[in-house]
Amino acid sequence: MSPTHPTKRPTDAAHLDERSPDVPTDLLNLPWIDVHNHAHTLSWTDRERYALSGCEAMVMVASGYHWTPYKPVRAEDVRYLWDDALNRRAAIERNHFFEANLGLGIHTGVRIEDPDKALEAMADYCALEEVVAIGETGVTPTQHVSSWDLDEQRAIVQAQMELAADHELPVLLHTPNTSSDSDRSYREGIGTPGYEKNPGLGQEPVIDAENPALEAVKIDVEAARDAGLDEEQVVASHADGNNTAYLMEETDCYLSYTIGHSWLIGVDAADVADAIDEFGPERIMVDTDCANVLRTDPFALKRAILELYRYGIDEEAIRRVVLENPREVFDIGQ
Ligand SMILES: [Zn+2]
Repeated sequence: MSPTHPTKRPTDAAHLDERSPDVPTDLLNLPWIDVHNHAHTLSWTDRERYALSGCEAMVMVASGYHWTPYKPVRAEDVRYLWDDALNRRAAIERNHFFEANLGLGIHTGVRIEDPDKALEAMADYCALEEVVAIGETGVTPTQHVSSWDLDEQRAIVQAQMELAADHELPVLLHTPNTSSDSDRSYREGIGTPGYEKNPGLGQEPVIDAENPALEAVKIDVEAARDAGLDEEQVVASHADGNNTAYLMEETDCYLSYTIGHSWLIGVDAADVADAIDEFGPERIMVDTDCANVLRTDPFALKRAILELYRYGIDEEAIRRVVLENPREVFDIGQ
């Protein structure tokens, strides 16, 4: 205790040996990269939050049925999503200074009537400099509104992987999550609060397996192998406790943990810390998956940086997962 502490009686401060523990001030200014979000669907103010909290670069994913008005979806609806993102990308970059890159893909969350037409067009999009990834894609066990035969889904996923191999682009996989915590469901007709999706339109599963979410990932990895795509070029987003061991032990894929909507999928910085402890930081990333149809948090990645440190992860490993791995795999950022 400083003898000159002027408090009336001893306070907590009097019991401390030093002013504060060694805190990692470097982390306050560590740039980071979000390899999976839908920031072009967010508000200007949300995108500003990315900039204010140190985002260096991002991959804005123009793929997903949420944003198409018609279901089943047609190829022209998918192309509209690609074109809309292309149209606005440069203005987003000019406004916020982070590098705004694009991922384009055919999502399998709802059946597409004429997917070959979208595939045909895709090669020309892949040649664009701003397109740094294909995805998000990957087979999904259940669709919204209109179910999609598993073999057809797999063919579309593999065809996109072949394009990725041709264009030396990574593929962002949308790995399905298993639901967590309480099994309690919401009142019929109300749906999940925080997720703008018409309830009751989910279809019967098309994957008949004990663990459909994991089976979907295994089918995707097989498709990558058949497509001749290096597994190091596959980034499995929404990595979770159900698929981490398989992906780490039986593949060379990268795992990206989605922490922007932990309330929905049950994955947070603690899971990332556990994965780093067990497998090392070499093949791990973190993404937000922020989108306007979901309750999501643009500050999630910045928060995770501080959380990882609190959970005992060293600064070098944190830098690797939030910055260096994304830079290397997607060839983006400084
Ligand atoms: Zn997404």
